[in-house]
Amino acid sequence: MSGLTFEGVSHRYGSVLAVDSVDLEFRPGETICLLGPSGCGKSTLLRLAAGLETIQDGSIAIGGRTVAAAGLHPQVPPEARRVGLVFQDYALFPHLTVTGNIRYGLPGGRAEGEERARRILADLGMSDLAGRYPHALSGGQQQRVALLRALAPKPRVMLLDEPFSTLDEHLRHEVRMETMSLLAGSDAVTVLVTHDAEEAMLLGDRIVVMRDGRIVQDASPDEVYAHPSDLFTARLFGPVNRYEGTVRAGSVSTPLGTVAAPGLAESSRVEVAFRADGIELGDPSSAGEDGLRVQVRSVRRLGVWTLVLMTPLDRTREARGAAEGAESVSIQARMPGSAPISSGDRLALRARPEHTFVFPAESVAGAPARERVSRIR
Ligand code: ADP
Repeated sequence: MSGLTFEGVSHRYGSVLAVDSVDLEFRPGETICLLGPSGCGKSTLLRLAAGLETIQDGSIAIGGRTVAAAGLHPQVPPEARRVGLVFQDYALFPHLTVTGNIRYGLPGGRAEGEERARRILADLGMSDLAGRYPHALSGGQQQRVALLRALAPKPRVMLLDEPFSTLDEHLRHEVRMETMSLLAGSDAVTVLVTHDAEEAMLLGDRIVVMRDGRIVQDASPDEVYAHPSDLFTARLFGPVNRYEGTVRAGSVSTPLGTVAAPGLAESSRVEVAFRADGIELGDPSSAGEDGLRVQVRSVRRLGVWTLVLMTPLDRTREARGAAEGAESVSIQARMPGSAPISSGDRLALRARPEHTFVFPAESVAGAPARERVSRIR
């Protein structure tokens, strides 16, 4: 049985094409993270599924039943779609207690609904909140109640729009984990909108990357991280060192070394991305003849990470083969923890091949997956 499907869905606000020919199929029990920068159409897709926007093009089905289609009038109304919604601003009813909020939308009489709401709260050890009003709850508690309210009627589809973005850092992690354990028992399709790649990696069984209203990549978190389909997607996961070059004899020269460019046309312009997390720094004596030597210009300790900015030190064979002015190139590395590196240090640099990618220059969203670099010479 299918959970939630979008077929050929496009949506405009005036002249803005917010969603552009989207086809997606989500299975029951699956958690999908829609990942992309602000304005790429994630919320519009959610609002269309919920019935908060009238469909203009294409069709949407929930549990195998068409709920919205360009030629279908009227659409199935939001309350008849069995969809649970959670937004970043909680949207609890301020005049109802926690029990009242959870009871809202449950079928059956008031007493039955209240009993069910009380049971839900008791099961989660939250009975002490039952009689409180939203204003007397913390942000994290409000978000939990909003989630329980959405889950109580056992929806087929749970739609969560940036549900953790207003919570502060430590609470965000706690509420994320709790949300996942609450959702784990549900066989609903869960679609969570986020612009945070780490959150998508943590919560999604599947990540759908969006850009300018289109699907750029649709794959498992491991796959999206290891084989981003373009530079845009690679950058969602952290800083990269990016260089342009030209394919010569199947390779491209960059200030960080020559990389193989399999499958890319000879003489074509390409972009090479080296993840800052994939840069290894070592003793200069450990660098081989071809190794790149660098000088550290600044070190910023950020707790979990240390950000190291460097410039190439000498014109090795690699640097000579690269673009002119390699010495003026700034290279960034993100090292775990508090790396024992100081400004002025001279080090050997190696870029790990699995964190190095080559894409056709000006790669466009929706283009086929690029070849990943197989090795650095
Ligand atoms: P996201 O959720 O990825 O931030 P949205 O779906 O909210 O993106 O928005 C996609 C595009 O549609 C943006 O360019 C946004 O400005 C535009 N948009 C969204 N809602 C409206 C609206 N009600 N009226 C006009 N333009 C809108």
